[in-house]
Amino acid sequence: MSYLTLTGINKIYPNGFHAVHNFNLEIEKGEFIVFVGPSGCGKSTTLRMIAGLESISKGEFLINGKRVNEKGPREREVAMVFQSYALYPHMSVYDNMSFGLTLQGVDEDVIEEKVLATAKVLGLTDYLDRKPRELSGGQRQRVAVGRAIIRKVGIFLMDEPLSNLDAKQRVTMRSEITQIHRETGATTIYVTHDQTEAMTMADRIVVMKDGYIQQVGKPYDLYFNPVNMFVAGFIGEPPMNFIRAGVKNGSFSIGSNTVNLGDFASKKVADRFEGRTVVLGFRPEHAVLVKGSAPADSVVLKCKVELTELLGDNTNVYIDIEGTNSILKIDPHDTPEMDSEISFAIPYKYIYLFDNETEECIEK
Ligand code: ATP
Repeated sequence: MSYLTLTGINKIYPNGFHAVHNFNLEIEKGEFIVFVGPSGCGKSTTLRMIAGLESISKGEFLINGKRVNEKGPREREVAMVFQSYALYPHMSVYDNMSFGLTLQGVDEDVIEEKVLATAKVLGLTDYLDRKPRELSGGQRQRVAVGRAIIRKVGIFLMDEPLSNLDAKQRVTMRSEITQIHRETGATTIYVTHDQTEAMTMADRIVVMKDGYIQQVGKPYDLYFNPVNMFVAGFIGEPPMNFIRAGVKNGSFSIGSNTVNLGDFASKKVADRFEGRTVVLGFRPEHAVLVKGSAPADSVVLKCKVELTELLGDNTNVYIDIEGTNSILKIDPHDTPEMDSEISFAIPYKYIYLFDNETEECIEK
């Protein structure tokens, strides 16, 4: 039996808006789960239903096999960190962190021990007397995390906790939260719209769109085996390139060019999509510039260079392939001239084919 079981969870708000559809997920004790998806996809609503802050319209939520739909947040033993931190402005860092324990009637000596230990983990020892307004965004964030982990609850919920931090602080806090998770082993559900946070922090990622789960999997699986164009385009930065290809007489063409997909696109796919359009997907980082003869077991495509962006460790090359824009991520030493015509290859193993209508992955 899993620690948390969500079965057929739906949320219909009082105004009739159906925000979450048939959400099914089993979470094991100690897992770090990330809900990721664009704004409005239902991540926070789902998290709030798990927290007990929002009622579940339909479906069942079990903790340790027991139904908790009707139980409030306290009875569910959850701690939540919000995007806004929700610290008490008039209280010191120490009091913000100890408040929950004081309410529970925990002994003052025990509270002091816990606050000092938690502050040490989070690098807040020197700030315990300060008020939230006297702290930086990153420090406030740490207090919010500290206030949640000090309670040693079983379930730790975080809703976009890093969104108010600058890019550098986000990277630091990302690894701090991962570290804290490793130390506490608390089952964690973390909501973000940032795929990098999802990829770097999660044991498993739940990708959502329009209130529906698109795919659940380990970061590696979502990156290499996306089930549809949405997941393929959402996970990875820059996103996967998509080019429409026609299938005629068993061969694939992009614009006026026939593309040799070799053994990759099986005859079965060609037969199934004869006379129709498929979408060829490849990631910017898997393209290799062709200088001499074309490499084996690869698709070779010609394109025009529209713009290059040197980023240091790589160059993003913005290209036009028969009217479709794509991006290649290449070694900066190979940066091509603007407006030049180049060829690049994508190894068959890094090519994806999607159904143009359903957007589902049909061949990988
Ligand atoms: P974001 O990243 O922007 O916070 P999200 O994925 O967390 O987005 P939710 O906050 O869960 O999205 O909202 C999902 C959908 O439900 C949105 O379309 C939102 O407008 C709608 N919604 C949220 N709260 C309510 C409410 N109280 N009444 C009606 N609709 C709501």
